Amino acid sequence: MAQETIFSKIIRKEIPSDMVYQDDWVTAFRDIHPLAPVHILIVPNKPIPTVNDAAAEDEQILGRLFTVAAKIARQEGIAKDGYRLIVNCGEHGGQEVQHLHLHLLGGRPLGAMLAQK
Ligand code: 5GP
Repeated sequence: MAQETIFSKIIRKEIPSDMVYQDDWVTAFRDIHPLAPVHILIVPNKPIPTVNDAAAEDEQILGRLFTVAAKIARQEGIAKDGYRLIVNCGEHGGQEVQHLHLHLLGGRPLGAMLAQK
């Protein structure tokens, strides 16, 4: 089993979060440092560290991240205007927490996908 991060404690409600959704497979809560009016993290309850660790047996769980993202986007009122989903992976991807997660960002125009260099 992968080493746990703070996200496992949030999923088990051992530490507080602004949780917006939870089922048997995934949990969603507001990012503690929001980068947009809506910034929600959607996390598999199973502590898969990175996309590199995703296995065929995880495909249903990983698919659930997207259907829950769409459900939350509707709940938050941002589905029509649109939003961005981001998964960071590893050092070059800028991943800070080693528990795979989907960022759901929206509520304003988000601009270019990446900063121009
Ligand atoms: P990453 O860079 O790994 O893709 O994103 C990790 C995200 O988790 C960051 O946006 C960061 O603000 C958020 N985060 C880190 N620790 C906590 C926490 O304890 N609670 C919440 N709600 N978000 C956190």
